[in-house]
Formats: sequence, structure tokens, C-alpha cells
Amino acid sequence: MTTHYLGFDIGGTHARCALIAETDGQFKILSSQKHSIRGAQTPRDIALIVRHVVEHVHADTGIDPQTLKGLGIAIAGQISVDEHTVINAPNLNWHNVDFYAALQASLADLVPQASIRIANDLNAIAWGEYQFGAARSLPSLLAIYVGTGIGAGLIIDHKLMVGADNVSGEIGHTKFPELKGIPCGCGQTGCIEGYAGGKAIEYRILHDIQNAVVSREELGLTAEEHPTARCIEAGFRKGLPYAVRFWDETALMLGMLVANAIAILNPHALLLGGGVLEGCPSLLAKIIDNAMEMAPRSATAHIQFIKPTLHDDAGTLGAALLCLSAGQKQL
Ligand SMILES: [Zn+2]
Repeated sequence: MTTHYLGFDIGGTHARCALIAETDGQFKILSSQKHSIRGAQTPRDIALIVRHVVEHVHADTGIDPQTLKGLGIAIAGQISVDEHTVINAPNLNWHNVDFYAALQASLADLVPQASIRIANDLNAIAWGEYQFGAARSLPSLLAIYVGTGIGAGLIIDHKLMVGADNVSGEIGHTKFPELKGIPCGCGQTGCIEGYAGGKAIEYRILHDIQNAVVSREELGLTAEEHPTARCIEAGFRKGLPYAVRFWDETALMLGMLVANAIAILNPHALLLGGGVLEGCPSLLAKIIDNAMEMAPRSATAHIQFIKPTLHDDAGTLGAALLCLSAGQKQL
């Protein structure tokens, strides 16, 4: 018998979704799509986008939406233990939002049989890569993603670890004394995300341009172009001293972060991904070198560094697959 699940990954500008079929423990992706959510970011707006996708399942795939067994929704934010409330999702500017209630109001008549799970996006990504991708069947995995921010998903003994408050993996808010005084989006100071997350990297470059530490010309930027991590990567490859120093300092901090995580967890594999790491291979290589040098020797004997294989699909697939695991909620 085949059952169907829908997975969503709600980002800051787009909602991705995928329909998967499960037959005797084998999964197949039937369709995937992407919807812009610019200008439509209230919980009700997003719930209506989810409804729109569900309504079109039949037209797109021939499957009756009434047969959907589960909907999994990944959001870049902290989710309450009961998976009803989005405590904080900075990209969406949601704070203590009962998203489950919004989904229920939007979907209850359409998919009465479906279970629903709202998950942190990195938890969904780690679960997707574990079930479907780069980390398939590894007993333990730490997925650290450096994108706009820095987050992690953790699998130990084949189980997704969510912690006492459902917020395991908030590794971007690890504190370093050197970063004392640097403000972070979480409201605290000294977090590595405030220094080495994609948004922070852009802020540091802009600050250096404004203070004449580096010029736009040296970074290959026009007057209108917004600096990103990729212009440091390009400068590093050309041997631009500013970019070399920038990556040395950033890779030292991120290498320490990874080494400390290895010391605590001794995972079988580290999955390093996200827009900054996937777009900047020189930075990634330096982080791995630093991490291997600083992590306890005893904890690196069998470690594998792996790259994401599902990319943008990891969150949607992971969210859908979470519906198959324990802790399902009924609409
Ligand atoms: Zn923080």
C-alpha cells in the first residue's frame, strides 16, 4: 500500500514543497515546487499557500488530497515542544505565533486524515539527509549549516535529537569571548552567528568598506552591488590580503565551533552546508582543517566530513518524513 506525505520548507522569500510517496518503507519524490512568499508572510498567508498546494495535488499528480497521511512544515525558527507555536522565526518576523491553529483553520476541511508536524528547518534538513541523502543510515550526524544565520540538526543513535525544549542545535548562539560585545539577532551578544553567519559577514564587509579598510574595487564590486561572502571567496582565490585575513579569522572561529561540537558529540559524520559554505569552498576547506587540528584526536578517528546531496529538497523531504516518525499530531 502506498501513502502520501507533503513536506514544506518555509524560507524568508520562498516556500518550497515536495510530495512524496511511501511504499513498504521505500520513498519516492512525486513532485516538488517553489512559491514566492514575498509580501505574504503572515501565518494566515503561509497557511493559505499550504492550502493552495494541497488543493492542487490532484491536478498536479492525480492523487486525491484526502489520502494525504501527513503534512510536515519546516521553518527557520524555534518551535515549541508541542509543535504548535513558532516561538521565534526572525526571517518571517514571527514571535510566539500559533501556526498550528492557522494551519488547522485553513486545512481541516481539506485533509481531515492528515497528521501535521511543524519542525525547525535544520532538524528537517538533517532528517532528510539522514533518510534520503548524504548521511543515509549513519548512526549519528551533526549537520551544521552556515547560511544567513548558523544552525544545526543532530541525529544520535538514529534518532533526531530535539532536546528538553525542542530547540537542540542552536549552535549559532554558541558564545566566544573574542566576540563579546557583538550583538546577535537573538538579543544576546557574543554569539558566533553575529560574526560568521552570512548576514554578519555582509555587515562586516560593509563596515570595512565604509571605514576604508578595503575598497569596492578590490572586492570587484560596483557602487550598487551588495557585498556577500562570495566576494571574499573570490578575493581569497586571487590572494587579496584583506580576503585572506577575513577567511583566516572566520575559519578559525567556525573551525573552533566544529571542533568543540566534535569534542562533545563524537559524531560519525559532520554535514557542512548552507549558502555560505556551499558557495565558498575555500572557507569550507579551511574550517575542516582547523576543526581536525583542534578537535580531540580520539574523537576524529572515524569522523567523515560530508556534503549535502539533497540541497534545497532536504528540508521539504525531511519535514515530510518527520510525519512518519513518532509524535504525530492529528488535525
Ligand atoms: Zn545569538
